Amino acid sequence: MDYMKETIDSLHKKLADKELTSEELTNQTLDNINAKQKDLNTFITVNDKAVEAAKKVDEDGIKGPLSGIPIAIKDNIVTNGIKTTAASKILYNFMPVYSATVMEKLEAAGAIDAGKTNLDEFAMGSSTETSYYKTSVNPWDFSRVPGGSSGGSAAAVAAGEVVAALGTDTGGSIRQPSAFNGIFGIKPTYGRVSRWGVIAFASSLDQVGVMSKRVEDSATVLATIAGHDDHDSTSSNEPVPDYRANLNKDMTGVKIAVPKEFWHEGTHPDVVESTKKALDAYKKMGATVEEVSLPTLKHAVEVYYVLASSEASSNLQRYDGVRYGYRAKDVKNINDLFVNSRSEGFGDEVKRRIMLGTFALSAGAYDAYFKKAAQVRTMFIEELSAVLDKYDLIMGPSTTSPAFKIGEKVDDPLAMYMNDILTIPANLAGLPAASVPAGLAEGLPVGLQIIGKPFAEQAVLNAAYALQEENKFYEKIPTALKGED
Ligand code: GLN
Repeated sequence: MDYMKETIDSLHKKLADKELTSEELTNQTLDNINAKQKDLNTFITVNDKAVEAAKKVDEDGIKGPLSGIPIAIKDNIVTNGIKTTAASKILYNFMPVYSATVMEKLEAAGAIDAGKTNLDEFAMGSSTETSYYKTSVNPWDFSRVPGGSSGGSAAAVAAGEVVAALGTDTGGSIRQPSAFNGIFGIKPTYGRVSRWGVIAFASSLDQVGVMSKRVEDSATVLATIAGHDDHDSTSSNEPVPDYRANLNKDMTGVKIAVPKEFWHEGTHPDVVESTKKALDAYKKMGATVEEVSLPTLKHAVEVYYVLASSEASSNLQRYDGVRYGYRAKDVKNINDLFVNSRSEGFGDEVKRRIMLGTFALSAGAYDAYFKKAAQVRTMFIEELSAVLDKYDLIMGPSTTSPAFKIGEKVDDPLAMYMNDILTIPANLAGLPAASVPAGLAEGLPVGLQIIGKPFAEQAVLNAAYALQEENKFYEKIPTALKGED
């Protein structure tokens, strides 16, 4: 099974009409994943229990839209009985005894977990190059990164290995790889989806979201995983709309704001052109497009890296070699056990964040760094909400460039961090945001970013759907895959 042309709806029809069983579909999916794995390295673990799960769905009968359909899961989402590593050596042998709430919801809907996709270690990175296990590859050009941290999920969807995948987004990890791979990806409002069982990176920013070729498919999956969860006190009671049923492309009267700071200096000219073309398309559909200013945006990257690293340094304290995960050998005392397990188990990028975060939270530096960053975050939230009082959506490019070369930025953390400048704002303010394919730059995909008001996922999905129906980007086959099948 190659998902280049299929959608959740078309697969559901085949399953419901008994043209195909979930067992057959799952077997074909795993074969396809295994065949593409050598080029793309999209998965850390292919789920060897998937076929068994599919048989059970077949026996119980095909029910809702996701029933019997394999979906890929980013490997920082905890899955009962399926190894979950967060792409770190420190969790190389971690076999969870429970599932994240999003997994329970998918399972209740009959979806099949196809396996666990590659990411940057603990979701810290923008290219999958910080993964302890492998670097995933962009199906549009095998010498380029698929983006990150949800790079494995994005490349798997773009390459037709699965119809949809779960990702997580703390500072852009769904939108940036979606843009780099020419697919759709949505990070919902903070609190829309439960974080229970999602390996914590920066708890005030992390959200689970969905990636798929088509907006419709993300709408279906998002409606399935969203909603309040007693296990996560930050999850919202806001009712979950039927995003798929309510999907429409009517843009009449929709007010779009484009922050002038989103035209960041050094943005690739083809990225600028594709974004402008998309904005013109919205105008033709009856939307209004106006320029606004977000002056605090220039501090967003610094604010994010202080706050995200501080939260990470605290969240990652639990990996100490005692209860689970990697444990250093030949230690003489408990202190050595902690120090050696962490020194050997974490990669460089994770250590850099732990050091930065621990410093920012330390007594002498707290006021100057953590507190200051938290204050600037509040200013930024106020600035964004003032814009969203007047406008329905904020738009701009998802990234400043198309996918970069493997190895190009890995030794230059600052260049890698600057990569997140356009995606971080939505995380700092907890807003729903998506990336939808807008065109090509040097033959590589470019994404348009759409940011909405809190809990206005429907408006974000609708705008993305309108552009998708206009440019039909999903018909394009990633260049490096052409002629392979
Ligand atoms: N690239 C950003 C970082 O490294 C964002 C990661 C993410 O969203 N998980 O922190």
